[in-house]
Amino acid sequence: MPLHSLSHGAKQCTALTKRTKQPCKNPAAYGCKTCIMHGARKPETIKRGKDHVNFVHGRRTLEAQAEQNAASRRLQQLEDAMHLLGMTTAKRSRGRKANGYTKLTSLDDVKKLLK
Ligand SMILES: [Zn+2]
Repeated sequence: MPLHSLSHGAKQCTALTKRTKQPCKNPAAYGCKTCIMHGARKPETIKRGKDHVNFVHGRRTLEAQAEQNAASRRLQQLEDAMHLLGMTTAKRSRGRKANGYTKLTSLDDVKKLLK
């Protein structure tokens, strides 16, 4: 049975319980996504980037990772372009492709890439 405050419009905690993996049934703390048992913090008080206590060098920040991902995607698409243009007969690189990568399949795609 849901708590009284939940039936009156309070948001429910978004955390999953560790033991049963079921959604927490507590109401979320005021202005937070989770209840006090699951580390309720207001979004504006959560420290990010340089302000975070575990920040060391900045190579793993969201911005740095997005930048790395974009560069990796660009490199993989340039490899596609080289194969399409017949510039190389080398084996394709293996492994996971970057997020957002779409394989270039025609010369029109290559032209769009180079613009
Ligand atoms: Zn909770």
